[in-house]
Amino acid sequence: MNKNLNIPLSVPNLSIDILDNVKECIETGWVSTGGKFITEFEEKVADYVGVDEAVGVQSGTAALHLAFQILGVEAGDEVIVPTVTFIATVNPITYLGAKPVFMDCDDSLNIDLDKLEEFLEKNCEQTEDGLLNKNSGNIIKALTIVNVFGNPIDMERVIEIADEYDLKVVEDAAESLGSFYNVGEYQGKHTGTIGDIGVLSFNANKILTTGGGGMLISNNDEIIEKARFLAVQAKTDPLYYKHDEIGYNYRLTNIAAAFGTEQIDRLEDFIKVKKKNYELYKKEIDKIDGLELLPFNTNTRPNYWFYSVVVNEEEYGIDRDQLLNKLNEVGIQARPLWGLISDQKPYQSCESYKIDKAKYYVDNLINIPCSTNLTEDEVYQVVDMLKEYKV
Ligand SMILES: *Cc1c(COP(=O)(O)O)cnc(C)c1O
Repeated sequence: MNKNLNIPLSVPNLSIDILDNVKECIETGWVSTGGKFITEFEEKVADYVGVDEAVGVQSGTAALHLAFQILGVEAGDEVIVPTVTFIATVNPITYLGAKPVFMDCDDSLNIDLDKLEEFLEKNCEQTEDGLLNKNSGNIIKALTIVNVFGNPIDMERVIEIADEYDLKVVEDAAESLGSFYNVGEYQGKHTGTIGDIGVLSFNANKILTTGGGGMLISNNDEIIEKARFLAVQAKTDPLYYKHDEIGYNYRLTNIAAAFGTEQIDRLEDFIKVKKKNYELYKKEIDKIDGLELLPFNTNTRPNYWFYSVVVNEEEYGIDRDQLLNKLNEVGIQARPLWGLISDQKPYQSCESYKIDKAKYYVDNLINIPCSTNLTEDEVYQVVDMLKEYKV
């Protein structure tokens, strides 16, 4: 069959209504890092996820950089991170002169909390200076969790562990905006709002986009104030331009926020589409031997951001890479899981703890098209090809 489809993996869903907001930016001259859309977008996001305040910044990476710095991560410190994530989770640790310690994933693709506990118990010791990593002799300051592909991690357990070992928690919720917990202590709470600081991203492939942008969220006034301060060059006096600290030019622009205020109003509708398409894929992929669409964690309302299919070569007949190539050849954009961060050149010498399951998923997983403007027809087109390629 000679198909020529055009089904991208994940593209923005932008309404022309955004133009009214952008027009207002142009007409009023408020195009840079101040203006009413920034405040409006911050308030809408804070309201939606249920935190006191949010600080708009130029990327999720920038928000992570601020988060680690504000929580006291310094040169020589260590931060625990998942090896299964986008590298943006980890790079800001290096910006600060600190080092990541990599953890494995479990079958939800999130950090394996059993292994995390085992590592803390066996390899670390509480000292006057903080939690000592006995291997490296460095202090571990924080734990970063990522809700991979929008799937909420067991946050009750994360907080229990962090409390026991006195670790700060950064929730990288860049992929999980809209996901929340349905039961337990955090019932009704959104991802990103439970740890010390939460981070969101509005990059173009995320569930909503401002072109580029991010947000730091917290219920702690001091953290929010510090983030606002550092994001605008740490200006102590706005008239005389006094600076007592090194800051950054990290503030979100009014133009980006003009996209955001419109996009956030559509988020629940986006999630409805993602859920509907997920369920359709699920029904059909369940019928194909050798393929499994990974579930989202029960007891949560995920945002269904990315769909992951695990290929069992023996049953399916061809391997993951063959399937990937075939799909891409006919115009169905699919991709493998990120290369493990612990395997990337800058991080190969950093400590990893029993990375095992992550290797399996790197070799056998694909992400299939999941845009919020993906139609039911297109889902069937993808499924048809998945059926056809089975040997
Ligand atoms: C996208 C993403 C980021 C970073 O966001 P940017 O806005 O692109 O800097 C961080 N962490 C994860 C897990 C992401 O997927």
